[in-house]
Amino acid sequence: MAETKPKPKPKIKKESIEMPKQAPKERVKNFNEVALGYDEEQAIEEANRCLQCIKPQCVSGCPVEVPIPEFIKCLRERRYAEGIATIKTKNALPAVCGRVCPQEEQCQVNCVVGRIGEPVSIGRLERYLADWEREHGLQIPEKAKPTEKKVAIVGAGPAGLTAAADLVKLGHRVVMFEALHLPGGVLVYGIPEFRLPKAIVRNEVNYIEKLGVDLRVGNQIGRTHTIPELMKGGFDAVFIGSGAGLPQFMGIPGENLGGIYSANEFLIRVNLMKAFQFPEYDTPLRLGKHVVVIGGGNVAMDCARSSMRLGADVCLLYRRSRDELPARKEEIENAEEEGLVCKFLAAPLKFIGDEKGWVKAMECQAMELGPPDASGRRRPIPIKGSDFTMETDTVIIAIGQTPNPIIQRTTEGLVVNPKHGTIIVDENGKTSLDGVYAGGDVATGAATVISAMGMGKNAAKAIHQYLTNKK
Ligand SMILES: Cc1cc2nc3c(=O)[nH]c(=O)nc-3n(C[C@H](O)[C@H](O)[C@H](O)COP(=O)(O)OP(=O)(O)OC[C@H]3O[C@@H](n4cnc5c(N)ncnc54)[C@H](O)[C@@H]3O)c2cc1C
Ligand code: SF4
Repeated sequence: MAETKPKPKPKIKKESIEMPKQAPKERVKNFNEVALGYDEEQAIEEANRCLQCIKPQCVSGCPVEVPIPEFIKCLRERRYAEGIATIKTKNALPAVCGRVCPQEEQCQVNCVVGRIGEPVSIGRLERYLADWEREHGLQIPEKAKPTEKKVAIVGAGPAGLTAAADLVKLGHRVVMFEALHLPGGVLVYGIPEFRLPKAIVRNEVNYIEKLGVDLRVGNQIGRTHTIPELMKGGFDAVFIGSGAGLPQFMGIPGENLGGIYSANEFLIRVNLMKAFQFPEYDTPLRLGKHVVVIGGGNVAMDCARSSMRLGADVCLLYRRSRDELPARKEEIENAEEEGLVCKFLAAPLKFIGDEKGWVKAMECQAMELGPPDASGRRRPIPIKGSDFTMETDTVIIAIGQTPNPIIQRTTEGLVVNPKHGTIIVDENGKTSLDGVYAGGDVATGAATVISAMGMGKNAAKAIHQYLTNKK
């Protein structure tokens, strides 16, 4: 009998398929999405790089446990509707996550293909399927039988939307209160159109509303109703996902001069109030020619890239070195391609104004790096006698956010971290009050979309358990 030779293993391409993007010179003149997404053949080719591992390491890196090999298998077999339904068993915001999640630090960092080359581009494949569904019509899954229980969700950001979607699918009646006139949280008021088009966020929210969530915008809990009033008024449980929307300032002289914005104010004007389309939209934005953005995270990059699109020369001032920049690597590269200039190892000491009270310069100090601090990054240490002056006509301060204290102040017995103002929760998202849960940035401080979603999901599970046991 002739010996059968073992079939040779198919070779895996080491490089992932590039994502087409708008050219830097073009995109810096518009607010359209930079990354254009895979076409069908590119998506299939990338999906074919997945080894379909029996013990997939990628899934353990995903805070909402998307069944990654299963959805990739559907995609490569061109079963797109099944692929997106598979993702949505765990993730109600796939078009968002496929665009802004730091996959390089989560699912993709664990992908075994990464040991021989570039990991499978899981996020880009997720985005492909989510976009496919948007073009071909939303599928609405079956829900559990209605329960008699009613849950209030405070805040329609990623944490609240996720908790709401999971709880409504379990049959509970869910009412979501949002302070702003639009749902989405940072996805609509923070992350700019060129990274995350607002029509895409709206489509994800539509899906959650179609599941049966009753969304009530323009309701700031703590003012329109308090948490105790909601609990007394017929809600069996509450989930607080009110985020971290309060800007932090530096506390240095001159910070109140004209022309100095917090990142929140600047991004809200640009994204939510559409100042970039003034006078078609009512909100103006006084932006000079020489903008300095202070900070180094995703928020700072978004401010810098928005300012460049509005015609300014932009310098990013960061007190540590390039290696410590907390923004996503992809976004730093995009910003530099668009013309961002970075000045590392420097921090402002004071702002200097002109005779009309507008900023005209900054006095700064050079830094060197010392041993790591509590964040694990090397601590910046001022260098004596290194002061220098930088001319500027606009400054945007993007050094962090903390939770708005309104809910914490109007909810007796809710235990809060005294230093950071975050709501303290246990591993199930339960607060110090019976039936009251919290998650996302309001519990962790400013973090990521997927960590907020993971906490929303976790709390939804615990709320379901609590409601099931409640008489
Ligand atoms: C500019 C910017 C860029 C970012 N880029 C990225 C990125 O690329 N990738 C990433 O993973 N993460 C990014 N992040 C972080 C990420 O967006 C947040 O971690 C995430 O949105 C937190 O979700 P959340 O639901 O906890 O809060 P939020 O998104 O802040 O949503 C909270 C919602 O609650 C509402 N609310 C607040 N108080 C009340 C109240 N009293 N009553 C009713 N409603 C209330 C708010 O209006 C808001 O809609 C970025 C953040 C910013 C600011
Ligand atoms: S670890 Fe990588 S190769 Fe393995 S299943 Fe996940 S995506 Fe596919």
